[in-house]
Amino acid sequence: MTPARKRARLVPPMVEAPPLLLGAHLSAAGGVPEAPARAVAIEATALQLFTKMGNRWAERECLDDECMSFRERLSSTGVQATMAHDSYLINLASPDPVLRARSIASFTMELHRCRALGLHYLVSHPGNYMDDRDAGIARNADAISESLAASPGDTILCLETTAGTGTSLGATFEELATIIARVDAGVRGRVGVCLDTCHVYSASYDLVQDYDGVFARLDDAMGLDRLKVMHLNDSKTPFASRRDRHELIAEGSLGAAPFRRVMNDPRLATVPKVIETPKLDDATATDTRMLTLLRSYVE
Ligand SMILES: [Zn+2]
Ligand SMILES: [Zn+2]
Repeated sequence: MTPARKRARLVPPMVEAPPLLLGAHLSAAGGVPEAPARAVAIEATALQLFTKMGNRWAERECLDDECMSFRERLSSTGVQATMAHDSYLINLASPDPVLRARSIASFTMELHRCRALGLHYLVSHPGNYMDDRDAGIARNADAISESLAASPGDTILCLETTAGTGTSLGATFEELATIIARVDAGVRGRVGVCLDTCHVYSASYDLVQDYDGVFARLDDAMGLDRLKVMHLNDSKTPFASRRDRHELIAEGSLGAAPFRRVMNDPRLATVPKVIETPKLDDATATDTRMLTLLRSYVE
């Protein structure tokens, strides 16, 4: 070995790699404070959960001892990025004033619970416009402004890319950018985007054949710094199907290749990545297998 090479090996890398923020949507069965232990069981460094039943309107506040217990338990884990997914019933773009008002109230409660629990992000699907697309975009954005104003805090709202089923908004990057641009400037800094690999593939963004092109389009539409969270899911349905059916990583129509790219993409290195893949008959075993597979892609 030449002296020069020996010296080079002693020099630490200029920039230390950021910690990998990788985890799963975890069950909060038995209460939100039960989730951190489930994160530990799968060696997660990121977690997502529902802060209430995702398919019910019934609201709840996070009680002080519940919040404290969650924060305490979380602090003794390796989890560094936390997020809630909002209820599927919420439709902030609804033309029905009663449903929209109910959605805004429910969404505001989602934000309140995130703040009480100290969660970094709230992931939310844009709504269904039902009648007119442009009117739906306006209703969705205005409802976001109203909810964020009613619930101050640090939680970042991440609008999730959708598969484009029916009249759902958010299946193109441009449409998400349009919604964000209409949100009141005073709260717009609290709005980002969650990219779901299954949804964008179903919405005709070809992560398999044109990975670089997809991220170039995202960058063109809103700037990559709006991307705050990723959902890593393979898809049970073919490209451009406009369907939302998650499959195990590398076992669906996307296959392993795009996930290898994601796991090694320096632009995405600091973006928390969460799987929402089928749990099969053993959630811990299946999620562990998925996260181990994803980590094995890192070169
Ligand atoms: Zn998702
Ligand atoms: Zn989905």
